[in-house]
Amino acid sequence: MKSLDPRAPLVLDTRELGRRPGSQRQVSRQVPAPADLGIEVLHVPEGAPVDLDLRLESVMEGVLVTGEARATLEGECARCLEPISDEIEVTFQELYVYEQHQTPHDEDDEVSRLEDDLVDLEPQLRDAVVLALPFQPLCRDDCPGLCTECGARLADDPDHSHEEPIDPRWAGLAALQQDEAPRGD
Ligand SMILES: [Zn+2]
Ligand SMILES: [Zn+2]
Repeated sequence: MKSLDPRAPLVLDTRELGRRPGSQRQVSRQVPAPADLGIEVLHVPEGAPVDLDLRLESVMEGVLVTGEARATLEGECARCLEPISDEIEVTFQELYVYEQHQTPHDEDDEVSRLEDDLVDLEPQLRDAVVLALPFQPLCRDDCPGLCTECGARLADDPDHSHEEPIDPRWAGLAALQQDEAPRGD
């Protein structure tokens, strides 16, 4: 496991908080977005500002961090590929357990730990952002997508239509379909 870099934007030093349970500290900072924050079709551009408001709270087992993050999103519509820009606001909460505070059942990687008083916010920020994103971002809820015949963006041209296919191969196919599976109109 690599050790944390105290200068990394999403690594937070908790030393000033103290170790007395109940002590609290507010931290606000703006950090550049790490790479791959989001999903391929919708993400916070790398290096774009992420505003963080954090509350650190000393508890028996470690440090509880409650955070709020705001950032801008860029991506493209899953139906028509039009660029999308949006904003995202997420909250997250994580208990970072003291290194020396080990119990047999939290040996696994599921537990976030303090390392030399440092906590790494990146995994929690990443999870919170990904969970908040739609699987299929759309430029608008009723985006009609692209024309299956010519690829035109239908939102720009709602009355878009094509003549009946005149390509003889398609005409032949259409005739064949009519013969085999007559549709009752
Ligand atoms: Zn669209
Ligand atoms: Zn078309």
